[in-house]
Amino acid sequence: MNTAHPDFDVMAASRSRHHAIVIGSGFGGMASAIRLAAKGYRVTLLEKLDALGGRAYTYEQDGFKFDGGPTIVTVPELFQELWTLCDRRLEDDIDLRLMNPFYRIRFDDGKIFDYTGDKEENLRQIRDYNPRDAEGYERYLKASADRHKVGFALLDKPFSTFGQLLRFAPDLVRLRGDQSVYKLVSRFIKDDYLRMAVSFHPLLIGGNPFTASSLYSLISHLEVTGGVWSAMGGTGRIVEAMGNLMKSQGTTIRLNAEVDQITAESGRVTGVRLKNGEQLDAELVISNADAAWTYRQLLSETKRRKWTDKRVDKAHFSNGLFVWYFGTNKQYHDIPHHSIVLGPRYKGLLTDIFRHKRMTDDFSLYLHRPTATDPSMAPDGCDTFYALVPVPHLDSGTDWTTYAEIFRQAVEARLEATMIPELGKHLATSLMLTPLDFQNRLNSVKGAGFSFEPRITQSAYFRPHNESEEVKGLYLVGAGTHPGAGMPAVLSSAKVIDNLIPAVAYAH
Ligand SMILES: Cc1cc2nc3c(=O)[nH]c(=O)nc-3n(C[C@H](O)[C@H](O)[C@H](O)COP(=O)(O)OP(=O)(O)OC[C@H]3O[C@@H](n4cnc5c(N)ncnc54)[C@H](O)[C@@H]3O)c2cc1C
Repeated sequence: MNTAHPDFDVMAASRSRHHAIVIGSGFGGMASAIRLAAKGYRVTLLEKLDALGGRAYTYEQDGFKFDGGPTIVTVPELFQELWTLCDRRLEDDIDLRLMNPFYRIRFDDGKIFDYTGDKEENLRQIRDYNPRDAEGYERYLKASADRHKVGFALLDKPFSTFGQLLRFAPDLVRLRGDQSVYKLVSRFIKDDYLRMAVSFHPLLIGGNPFTASSLYSLISHLEVTGGVWSAMGGTGRIVEAMGNLMKSQGTTIRLNAEVDQITAESGRVTGVRLKNGEQLDAELVISNADAAWTYRQLLSETKRRKWTDKRVDKAHFSNGLFVWYFGTNKQYHDIPHHSIVLGPRYKGLLTDIFRHKRMTDDFSLYLHRPTATDPSMAPDGCDTFYALVPVPHLDSGTDWTTYAEIFRQAVEARLEATMIPELGKHLATSLMLTPLDFQNRLNSVKGAGFSFEPRITQSAYFRPHNESEEVKGLYLVGAGTHPGAGMPAVLSSAKVIDNLIPAVAYAH
């Protein structure tokens, strides 16, 4: 049981069985459900799709198992906390394996950098590119650690008041939070290849390394100190295990249950209305649906002061994603679990994606090969892959209904020429997701892969707050609220509301 809130009477909550509704079963939603149930709330989780996980939905086709989204696990302690709340041990349910290398980065000319958890090994490779950058890399890691010290402490704290922003401001100024990740990296590292290899991290959470605040360089520190992990059975195994935790707590899980409207009266939530017209009453509603969607669609019948349609429409959204899941009838033993295949352009490509919203012929991609670690993800003698390509969100005007297959063929050709020889000949199964699917399946505004873009003017206080600014009793978790996208961040958003809810729930 959570004892972090001295003003909260857990037994009373248990007796009263206050009802909390969680909309959406992404990691943020499931973590919230687990935390609230552990406090004694009666929890109902409503999910639009036919299975749990949100972006971590899993697909199975022709015997191949695909994690739909997240594959790189960092800060596993955040999962462990949820297991502890249920008096269980994470390691009894999930077998996490440390990745080596963390990622293989393949530059356009075929040069390779294996980014590993071994600093000496990284330094050895850095010296091969540019001997003088070895010392610079060490100084960059120190800068990343400084930003981690400030930034990580804020991850599980609400950022709801201007006062909190003011308290944070001196650190922001001292650490040059106004500078981009790329600029910070470039202060220490001179080689162009290495600058790419060390600065790409914001892309993992929907940010452009050239505009995302240098505070996000804390991800480098997280990785080198905490490791990059993957789950045996895939991330889907974690989703399944969290489903079991929720069931063991007595949470009601309803799939194929899309919320149409969050209902409110006199400035306070009363519950939700489902698409089928059913009304469910609750004292608390936790929305794990995309924050922009929550305000624009789910609260459309309630007068809003801050997150008006106009403000949502003017916001900057993260890039979109084209994901091609495929299997091969042979194994490619020399491809590691995580690879990044960079194209000929870096800054120009990112400017086209993020600023101009322009589809271009060149692209970079992340290649996932889970069978490098876990052969059970594919039939015997086969490999499971996915290629994830950052593309502009739907403002590009691309007609994905016709362009998806053309683009898939371009991705196939690129992979055949770089990492997977004779891919076309050995293709055994194929499945695609485009920004249109992110919009239509996941209710993501503009089909963005990661909701609001993480730029300084849309971070922390400037993101939709975890405790809604519009109606009492409504809380937001997941990628579109504070602290942002990525599994560690959305799990932290559930921690934020865990810290907020008791006082709020019983004050009214
Ligand atoms: C392809 C891809 C790869 C990624 N790789 C990584 C990675 O390796 N590591 C990492 O840490 N992060 C990664 N991320 C980011 C990470 O997956 C996400 O930031 C995180 O999983 C989002 O969780 P969330 O809590 O915001 O909910 P989401 O996963 O967005 O889920 C929201 C849920 O709400 C449901 N919903 C929406 N509207 C309604 C409604 N009206 N009624 C009922 N239900 C509704 C949706 O169906 C969905 O299930 C990746 C993301 C993608 C897309």
